[in-house]
Amino acid sequence: MTIAAEKISPVPAEPLVRARNVHKSFGSNEVLKGIDLDVMPGEVVVILGPSGSGKSTFLRCINHLEAIDRGSIVVADEQIGYELRNGRLHKLSDRAIAVQRRKIGMVFQQFNLYPHMTALENIIEAPVGVHKQNRREAQAYAMELLSRIGLTEKAHAYPRQLSGGQQQRVAIARALAIKPKLMLFDEPTSALDPELVGEVLATMRDLADQGLTMIVVTHEIGFAREAADRVVFMDGGVVVEQGRPEVVLSNPSHPRTRLFLSRFI
Ligand code: ADP
Ligand code: MG
Repeated sequence: MTIAAEKISPVPAEPLVRARNVHKSFGSNEVLKGIDLDVMPGEVVVILGPSGSGKSTFLRCINHLEAIDRGSIVVADEQIGYELRNGRLHKLSDRAIAVQRRKIGMVFQQFNLYPHMTALENIIEAPVGVHKQNRREAQAYAMELLSRIGLTEKAHAYPRQLSGGQQQRVAIARALAIKPKLMLFDEPTSALDPELVGEVLATMRDLADQGLTMIVVTHEIGFAREAADRVVFMDGGVVVEQGRPEVVLSNPSHPRTRLFLSRFI
C-alpha cells in the first residue's frame, strides 16, 4: 500500500551535535567568539584554520575538557555540562559529566599510549578500568577493533615496538573502545613522519565510510577533499565559511579562506 506523499512527510534527522553561540575566553583572551555548528549523524566534518584560531579549544569544549562561558553544546540530545531539572538548567556533577563524555571519543596529535601496556591493554583500559565492563568482552571487542585497523598481529606489542603511525591507529582503536557516538580528531597526523601519515588517514577514511560521525581538525587538505561531507573554515574564533569540500576548497568565497588555502598549493 502506498501513502499519499502529502499526508506523511519524512522526519528530518536531528543533528548529533548542535553548537550555538559558543564563547570561551582564557583570561582576557576571547578564543571562541560565538561558534555555531550542527553535525548530522554519520557526517564527517573537517575543520580547517590557521594556528591559534580556536580549533582545539572548540573540540575540547565539545568534549567538556574546557567549560564554555556562553552558548550551548548539545551532543546526542544532552547539553554538555548541564541538565534540565524542574524547567531549569543545572550544572552537572563531575561524575555525570564523565558519563556524558563516554559518548565522545577523542584522538590527539600526541597519541600518549600507556608505555607499560600492550596495544590490547591500552584499548581495554577505559572499558574495563573506568567503565567496569567485563574483561573478556572488552578484549573480544578490542581484537575486533585491532582487526578493523589491520593490527591484529600487534595486539601484544608495546608502544615502543610500534611505529608512530601504528601507535596512532591504536590510539584511534582505544578511543573507539567505548563505542562513542561521536569521534573528535585534533590534528591526528601532525606529529607523524610524512611517510606514516597515509596509514592513519586510511584508517580514518575507513571509519568515515562505516558511518561514524566525525569532527576532524587537520591540515590534510587531501583528506578533507576526499573524506569530508563538509569543510568548516575557522579563523579568529569564528566560523568564517563552510560548505561542500569541492566548493570551500576549490572556490572559497571568503578572502581569509583563500589566503589560508593558498599556502597549500
Ligand atoms: P588552534 O587549535 O586553532 O591552533 P587553540 O584552540 O589551541 O587554537 O588556541 C587558541 C588560543 O587559545 C591561542 O591563543 C592559545 O594560546 C589560547 N589557549 C588555548 N588553550 C589555552 C589555555 N588552556 N590557557 C590559556 N590560553 C589558551
Ligand atoms: Mg590546535
